[in-house]
Formats: sequence, C-alpha cells, structure tokens
Amino acid sequence: MNKYFLVIDQGTTSSRIVLYNKKFEIFDIVQKEFKQYFPNEGWVEHNAIEIWNDVRGLIFKILKKNKLVSRNIISIGITNQRETTVLWNKKTGKPIYRAIVWQDRRTANLCEKLKRKGADKIIQKITGLELDPYFSATKVKWIIDNIKDAKKYLKNDNLLFGTIDSWLLWNLTEGRSHITDISNASRTMIFDSQKEKWSEKILKIFNIPKKILPTVVENAYNFGSTKLFGDAITIGGMAGDQQSATIGQACFKRGQSKSTYGTGCFLLMNIGKKFKLSRNRLLTTVAFKINGKKMFCYEGSIFVAGSAIQWLRDNLKFIKDSSETDKLYKKANKDENLFFVPALTGLGAPYWNPNARGTFFGITRNTSKEDIIKATLDSLSFQTYELIECMEKDSKTKISEIRVDGGMVKNNSFLQSLANISQIKIIRPSNIETTSLGAAYLSAIQSGHLKNTNQINKLWKKDKIIKAKISKSISNSNIVKWKLIINAVNNFY
Ligand code: ADP
Repeated sequence: MNKYFLVIDQGTTSSRIVLYNKKFEIFDIVQKEFKQYFPNEGWVEHNAIEIWNDVRGLIFKILKKNKLVSRNIISIGITNQRETTVLWNKKTGKPIYRAIVWQDRRTANLCEKLKRKGADKIIQKITGLELDPYFSATKVKWIIDNIKDAKKYLKNDNLLFGTIDSWLLWNLTEGRSHITDISNASRTMIFDSQKEKWSEKILKIFNIPKKILPTVVENAYNFGSTKLFGDAITIGGMAGDQQSATIGQACFKRGQSKSTYGTGCFLLMNIGKKFKLSRNRLLTTVAFKINGKKMFCYEGSIFVAGSAIQWLRDNLKFIKDSSETDKLYKKANKDENLFFVPALTGLGAPYWNPNARGTFFGITRNTSKEDIIKATLDSLSFQTYELIECMEKDSKTKISEIRVDGGMVKNNSFLQSLANISQIKIIRPSNIETTSLGAAYLSAIQSGHLKNTNQINKLWKKDKIIKAKISKSISNSNIVKWKLIINAVNNFY
C-alpha cells in the first residue's frame, strides 16, 4: 500500500493540500482561493468557516482523486498564515467574528497609544516583536472589546482563541485538541519566547484572559487525531508558514537565511539557540523546537509582495495572470527612473509604519505599464536588500547566499533583479513549495520516518543559482536613490 504525508498549507489567499511520498517528493496538490473581505480602509478579514470547509473539502477531493483512503495517510502536517486571529464559541463551534487577517491595520491607534506609555519596550523584551497591529494580540483585544457576545461567552467559559493552525486542528479533532505550536505562539505578541509560556504581564496589558488560549507544544508532536476521513489519522506536525519554510529550506545552521515571496515577503535568518534582540527593528522569533532543541531567527517582514502583483492584475488590469510579469519586465525601458514604494497596507520592517501608503516616484510621459511592473518587482529587491543590511548589522555576520521560495520565485526576471540589487547569490531549491515541505518533515519526525534535522538537511536540493549581472557600483547608486525615496514616504505618513 502506497503511503503519503498529507500537508494542509493554509495561506493568506488560498488553501492547499499537498501529498508527499516517503521520499518527500510532491505526489499531488489541490488548491482553492478564498474570499478576501475589506470592510473598511486598512481592514482585512477572512471567513474562518469558509477556510475550514475548503480545507476539509480539499482533503476529501485529493483522497478521492487519487483513490486513497485514510489508511494511505501516514500523518498530517499543518502550516498556516500566521497571526490571523479567530475567536470562536466552543459550544457551537462558530466564530464570533470573521478572522482578522495579519495584514489588518485597524488597531494602529491602539498600538500608538500603548507605545506612548512605553509598552513597546516591555513587549519587545519578552516576545522579540515590535508592537504592531500585524500580530494577534491587538486583534484579540479588538474582538473582545467590540463584539457584543464576546463577554457573554467569556463569562460562560465558552470562548476560545486560536490562530488558523489551532482553528483547523480544533475542527479536525472535533473539539478535542485546543493546541498551538511554539512557532505560531511566538507570533501572537503575548508569548514569552524564552520561558515558553503565555506572558501574564502582556496579557494584563491587553486584558486578554488566559483561559481562552491554546496549549503550546513543540513543532513535531502528537497534536491529536482526526476521524473525519475514515480511520483516525494523527496530526503530527505544525508550524507557521515562514518557520515551516525555514525547515523546508533546511536552514538549521546559524547564519543560514531564506526568503519567501508569497502574498508578503519574509526573510528569516537562523541566529542559533540564544534569544537576541535586534537593534535594527527586525523581529526575534522562534524558528522551531524539534526533539527538545529550540532555535531562534531574526525576521524581516515585508507586508506587500505578491499582493502588489495581484493589485497590478486585479485593480490596474495590466495582466491576466501574475506569470506575465516575467516577460513584461524585460520589455521595460531601462532608462526610466521609476520607483514604486508598494506600501499598500503600510510598511513592515524596518520602518513599521502602518499608516504609510503606496507611492510612485519619477512618472513621465513615457512611463508604460511595463515600467510600472518592473518598478514593482524591483521594489521587493530593494526592500529585501534593506533587510539583509539590518540582519548583517544585528548578527555581525555576512550573508553570502539566500535560499528563496514562494509563488513569485518562478519569475526569473524577479530573481535576477534580486541578485543584481542585493549582489548576493540567490538559490532556488528544486521544491519551491518549501512551506508545505517543512510541515511534511515535521509530521515525519513525529511518525518516526525521519529522526532529526540532519536527515532533512540531506534531502535539500538546489535547482538554480542566480548571480548579479550588474556591477556593485550601479546597484549601490540605485540603492541610495531607493533609500531617499522610502524615507520620504515613511516621513510623509
Ligand atoms: P501565499 O502562500 O502567500 O498565498 P504563494 O506562495 O502561493 O502565496 O504565491 C502567490 C503569490 O505570488 C501571488 O500573490 C501571485 O501574485 C504571486 N506570483 C505567482 N506567480 C508569480 C510570477 N510568476 N511572477 C510574479 N508573481 C507571481
């Protein structure tokens, strides 16, 4: 009987189910996009019920399509969009409000107010994070403060909080497991990443009751089992998408870095076993805890990456499919000095300005759609470069190569732009679905099919290396211009 690891990869714009064979090769993928809600300026919501129905439906679909039954599945791994916040009633199983998505900026004022009181320092010291609407804490507070039923359910002990991982697990196990893993917990802004427990001090700041929080465990663990697809299947692995990609990219050594280009872009650098705070406004976050061994990373988050390409497609109607940007980039006029700061939902690291908005510099009578596409892709290279600079300063190590993944790295023009601007070797692995691969590895560790991270390291394979084709001095002069521009945008808003 053929056996597979089944991974639930619940992303920001779509849910995917990926089957891996025992050699960790992709056997099949099914995917479904879901609806994004923008009820107010800067607000982004998802329907958590729709997400769960899609995930369950996709699992049935992939099993049926391949004539498989639950006994063909060794175990399940979950990886997910992080920080997105769901509060639900444990009696009815219904969310009390739509999921508030990581991109949502509605709590910007609350964050400002708390910063003025000095809460940001306490929060950074305990969680490693910037006080920002991005993380779950202020989203939880917003729901409790604004949704009528929240207080009633809280009083009756019927309210539960979870990020998408916990929400899916709770549904898969029909309410038996209310658990999250350490990588997801470290993104809530209420978790003490060193002591590995919810921080009483921070819970007090946000007035969040501890009783609604899930239990926190390691990434490879017996999270419970699901009986919804026939015989029981163990859920054996769980990690937030970026940490999962770090595992999928086998960045297990101090100094190794990966950058994922999906809806947003996330550069993570392994900094070893010690929790160290950044002096350059990066985040310190738990990379993973496997077999009792915990590692940390620095993370730089760029909120808008592939979503800028979606904006070119859906709002400007420049393209029908995001892949067209690869060819159109090459047709751009090399003499145009067009820059785009794609702060469509604010600026992430190292600026942390939720109020910033997108801005073009240098539009002329000749500016074409191709130039705008090029400026959009280049903007991600410039932002990545700035994060590399911060990481090198913080870690006092030189980054000599970056492993890249995510939907956008199929775009060769973009990868060349990245190599040109950063002047660093860019490596694309043979499996760019590293997010789901990481979760497959975790569930394989739990099931005993893999022993440790050394074995994962041996499985990592490169596909392509991209090196700079322009000189360092040309790239430097563009970087100088970029910095003037992004600082102008940051100061304006
Ligand atoms: P997520 O997991 O965050 O939903 P993915 O890793 O699936 O994202 O990547 C999807 C994103 O990548 C979309 O925003 C899409 O616009 C962008 N994308 C996909 N293919 C390309 C391409 N060839 N060129 C540029 N952008 C692309």
